[in-house]
Amino acid sequence: MEMEACARCGECLAWCPAYAQDPRESICSRGKLGSLKRIVTSGLNGEEMKEFLEGLYECSACGQCHIVCPVRINTHELWERARESLVKAGIPQPEEQIKHLTAIRECNNSFAKPQTERGLWAETAWRAGLLKEPVRLWKEYQAPVLYFAGCTASFDPAMQTVAVQSARLLQEAGVDFSILGPDEPCCASKLRRMGDPGFADAAQQRADLFLRSGIGRIIVSCAGCFKGLHSDYAGILPASVEVLHLTEYLDRLIREGNLTPTRNVPMKVTYHDPCHLGRHNQIYREPRNILHAIPGLSLIEMRRHGPFSLCCGMGGGLKLAKPEIQKKMSAARIRQAEETGAEAIVTPCQTCQMGLMTGTEATSSGLKVYHITEMLIRSVCPEADRAHIEKAFTETETG
Ligand code: SF4
Ligand code: SF4
Repeated sequence: MEMEACARCGECLAWCPAYAQDPRESICSRGKLGSLKRIVTSGLNGEEMKEFLEGLYECSACGQCHIVCPVRINTHELWERARESLVKAGIPQPEEQIKHLTAIRECNNSFAKPQTERGLWAETAWRAGLLKEPVRLWKEYQAPVLYFAGCTASFDPAMQTVAVQSARLLQEAGVDFSILGPDEPCCASKLRRMGDPGFADAAQQRADLFLRSGIGRIIVSCAGCFKGLHSDYAGILPASVEVLHLTEYLDRLIREGNLTPTRNVPMKVTYHDPCHLGRHNQIYREPRNILHAIPGLSLIEMRRHGPFSLCCGMGGGLKLAKPEIQKKMSAARIRQAEETGAEAIVTPCQTCQMGLMTGTEATSSGLKVYHITEMLIRSVCPEADRAHIEKAFTETETG
C-alpha cells in the first residue's frame, strides 16, 4: 500500500538532504518507491538494481521525506525494511556497514573494544575530581535510575565528555543512579537502521537483561540509543520500563527546582534537532527549555528546524556507506547555522555532534559544536566543562 500510495508529486525532492548533494532520482523517496514497486511486480534489470541499491544506502533514513509527503508514506521505515528484506534475499549491505554490524554482534559495541573498558570513563572522571561522588555499578547497587551512556560516549575519547557531564549533572540534581558499566550492551539500533535481520533477537536479549536486572527507568544521552530503546523496542521492552532522553529528564529536573543553572553563559547559539529525537520522537521543546533556562544564553533558530531540521548525515549508516555525502550534508547544515550569526551549534546527541564537526572541518568554519550538556555544565558547574575534562583525561592517559 505504501508503494502504491506515491502520487509522484516530487515534494520529497525539494527536502531530501541527500538528494540536495547528489540530485539523482534514485536517491530521493519518489525514485526509491518507484523501484521498490517494480521489484515486487516486473523486477529490475542489473543496472537498475545497482542504481536502486545506491539510492537505498545513500540515505540517512532521516525521515524528512515522510514529514513533507502529502500522503505521509512511512518512508524511512520502509527503507529499513527494504534493506532487511534484501539482506535476507542474499543482497548484503555495503562493506563498511557489514564491518560495523559485525563489531556490534561480536563485541557488543560498535568500536570493537573490550567491554571491560566500557565503564572506565566513570572511574577516570572520579579519580580526576570531575564528579561529586563515584558512579556506582548496577550489579553493586540497584538505583532507581540507570544512566545508559551508549557506545560512543563510552568508548570514543572525543565524546566521553558527554558521559562524564551527564553523570555530573545527574549528581548535581541529586539523582540516585548507577550504570551497567562493563555489562552495558550496545542498544543494537544500528542493526535495525542498516537492515540486519538479527535486530529483533538482539533487542529481546537487551530487554531481558533490563527486566532481569530490575531496571525501571533508563536515561539515555544519545538520540540514536534513545530511538532504539524507546521506539525500536516498542512491543519488546514493556512500557513499565521508562526510557527518557537526557534532555527530557534534565528539563524536568530544572522545572521541578532540582537543578538550577545559575552562572551566566553569554553566548548566541543555534540548536540542531537530531532526526531520531525530533522528527522520529517529537522531542523539540525540552532541549530548547534547557537552553532558555541558562542565564545569558540566547537561542537563534536556523531556517530549517524542528520537523524540518536538516539532517547532518549521521543516521542510517550513511557515513559508513558514503562518507563523502555525509560530509557534504553536514557542511550544508553548518552553513545554515552560520547564517544565524550564532557562535555555536548545540545538539543533544553525541553522534550528531561528531557529524557536525565533520561539517565545520569541511567548511573551515569557526563555528563551535557543543553537546547540550556542555552548555548546562558551564552554568551549573564549570569545573567540569569540556576543557577541564579533556585535560584531566589526557593527564590520566599520559601519567
Ligand atoms: S529518509 Fe532522508 S535522506 Fe532518505 S530519502 Fe528520505 S529525506 Fe532523503
Ligand atoms: S512526497 Fe510522497 S507522494 Fe510525493 S513524490 Fe515524494 S514519496 Fe511520492
